[in-house]
Formats: sequence, structure tokens, C-alpha cells
Amino acid sequence: MLERFTIGCGTSSNSSKLIHGGLRYLETGRFGLVKESLKDRKRLFELYPDLVEMVPFYLPVYDDSLRPWWMIRTGLGMYDLFSQQPQYHCRYINNKDFAEKFPGVKTAGLRRVYVYYDGKTNDLELTRRIAQDAFGSGCAVRENCQVVSVDGDDKVFRVLYRDSSGEHEVEAPLLINAAGPWIDEVNAKYCLPHNYRNNKVSGIHIVINRAVVPECMFLQTNNRRIFFMIPWDEGKTMIGTTERMENCTCDEVQVQEDDVNYLLDCANHYLREAVSQDDICHTFLGIRPLVMDKNDNTDATSMSRDYKIDIIRQGETKLIHVYGGKLTTCLSMAEKVSARVS
Ligand SMILES: Cc1cc2nc3c(=O)[nH]c(=O)nc-3n(C[C@H](O)[C@H](O)[C@H](O)COP(=O)(O)OP(=O)(O)OC[C@H]3O[C@@H](n4cnc5c(N)ncnc54)[C@H](O)[C@@H]3O)c2cc1C
Repeated sequence: MLERFTIGCGTSSNSSKLIHGGLRYLETGRFGLVKESLKDRKRLFELYPDLVEMVPFYLPVYDDSLRPWWMIRTGLGMYDLFSQQPQYHCRYINNKDFAEKFPGVKTAGLRRVYVYYDGKTNDLELTRRIAQDAFGSGCAVRENCQVVSVDGDDKVFRVLYRDSSGEHEVEAPLLINAAGPWIDEVNAKYCLPHNYRNNKVSGIHIVINRAVVPECMFLQTNNRRIFFMIPWDEGKTMIGTTERMENCTCDEVQVQEDDVNYLLDCANHYLREAVSQDDICHTFLGIRPLVMDKNDNTDATSMSRDYKIDIIRQGETKLIHVYGGKLTTCLSMAEKVSARVS
């Protein structure tokens, strides 16, 4: 595995840090993705109990919420059915108990509050641990190396890379491109044939310098999106995320003031004491590589978070590109890739 910087430095340290089924994907009928994610959530929780913690998410429904309570209830029922983990089934709490637990959250117009469970992780640590496990199973992991060229013939790929000790060449009949949102740039740079294209959708999170909620919250916006408020280290709160289509290269994408203000507005719709730019102590940005069918003009929210494995055979060589996906589904994705290796 050749990584140009350090393992996890890309999208995998800038996610919402949830190991989740993706409750909102039920709305767009992505049942297969939700089922697979919930299966992987359970497996990651069992494999890395010190890094994946199941926590409650509070989901209040208000009079002005765009999705009514019965729709939320139906979605949560399906989530429970798919998860096959009865100990983490959703429940309902009364408004009075919610108001006592969340004194900083408005209760005017509150209809119902549901509690469901999902996993929370340290995405960077989890990614590094998985790489470490791969290393333990015999995978050579090289950080801080720059791929200089990819050549080859019908029998073998030749990859020339450079690190602090000089230039090295590796030869293999199989090459896997798992460059996340950089995948198209890698394809272009090394002239690798491919069948799909990537859409880059950036997402930011802001970290507020105080604890505005005691537990995780899943909230609806007034444009039919959703966002999270998640208790963060040292009494802070993480709020995210946004979706912005990007047309520049991945390394040029920057946090936009509009997105920061959007998140502040989303949070302030629910908070008694408003948060402002002055409360932000940290902002981070990641890029979702979303695979989309050609000529599809749907907006980023409804684009699939599913992944595609693209296989190019030439003579005795095989090139595998991994497009899209979620941190949560990394195990299933890896298994599907390895099944296609042999
Ligand atoms: C805002 C946001 C929130 C998200 N929240 C969640 C969530 O809560 N839960 C969840 O399951 N998923 C979430 N995701 C999705 C998840 O983060 C990604 O699916 C996952 O991190 C992608 O991992 P990856 O290894 O494919 O890509 P990356 O982690 O980006 O890794 C790609 C690596 O390729 C390297 N690279 C690039 N070019 C080269 C080159 N030429 N040579 C060598 N190396 C190269 C990069 O340095 C990088 O480290 C979120 C994504 C975003 C953007």
C-alpha cells in the first residue's frame, strides 16, 4: 500500500466519525446500503470495541419538521429490523424528560422525541488500526511515498515510487486504486483506464468551544437535509455537515464562509443560546467521492453513498478501482475487492 502522506490523513480523518447504518438513506430507498452498513457497524463494533462505541442519538420532531413523526417512526422501525441488534432498538422518550436532559434545546412546538443507537468512533485511529492489522497480516504499508510512474505490459504493472530513502520499483499483476476522492486525479496522472467518474462533494464540520448538547442529536434542517450535533472532546460540540459540489482539484477545496454560516443557522434554529463564529474553535473539511450515473443531475443529498468496484483486465493484469463508499462499509468493500482479486 503506497500512501503519499500518512494513513488516514485524507477523508478518513475528516468524516462525521460515525459508524452508522445511515438512517437518512432509507428515505431514498437505499435499503441494501443501510443493511450492509448496519451489518458492518456490528462487525466493526465487535472487532474494535475500544474504538467503536454505540451511543444514543436523540431525534426530536417538531411541528415544523419537514418529515412528520410517523415517517421517522417508520424509518426507525426499519432500522431496528435491519440492524438485528435488539439491545440497540429505538425508543420514545417523553418531552418533559427530553427538556430536562437537553436544557439548551428549544421545546416550543416539540411533538415527539425518539432515541436510536449508532456507533461513534475516532476515524483516524480506526483507519490507522485497520492499516496496522493489514501490516500484521503481511501487507507492506509505505507512508510518505510519491508514485512517480505506473507502466507495464500484458503481464505485469510496474510502479515506480519515491520515498526518503530513494526510488523503488514494485511489480505486480494486480493494481488497486483506492485513492478516495483523488481517484480521478490518480487515473489522469498515471493514464489508468477506468469506467466511472467521481463527483466531489465537500462536507465541513465546525467544532464549538462549549457543550451545547449532553448527547448526540440527529436534527432536520428546513431544506430537507439533516445534521448532527455531537458532544466532542473537552466539553466541545461538533456540528455537521454540509454538501457542496466541487469542480476544482481535491487539494484546492477550501472551507466556505457560507457553509460555516449554514451550520450555525441550523444549530441556532434549535438552541436557546445562539452559537456564533466566535464560538468556533476548529473547522474541518472532507470530500465525498460520490459515484453517479452519467447524465444524472440529482443533488448531492440524494446521490448514492454506495460504492462501485471497477475492474479492467488487460492480458494477465487486473486493475481494480474502488469508487465511493463509507468508512462504515470498509470491511464489506475490502471483502468484495479481495473476492475479485483471485
Ligand atoms: C464530510 C464527510 C462526512 C463523512 N461522514 C462519515 C461518517 O460519519 N461515517 C462513515 O461511515 N463515512 C463517512 N464519510 C465517508 C468516509 O469518510 C469515506 O468513505 C472514507 O473515509 C473514504 O476512505 P478512503 O480510504 O476511500 O479515502 P481517503 O481516506 O481520502 O484515502 C485516500 C488516500 O489516498 C491518498 N492519495 C491520494 N493521491 C495519492 C497518490 N497519488 N499516491 C498515493 N496516495 C494518494 C490520500 O493521501 C488519502 O490518504 C464522510 C465523508 C465526508 C466527506
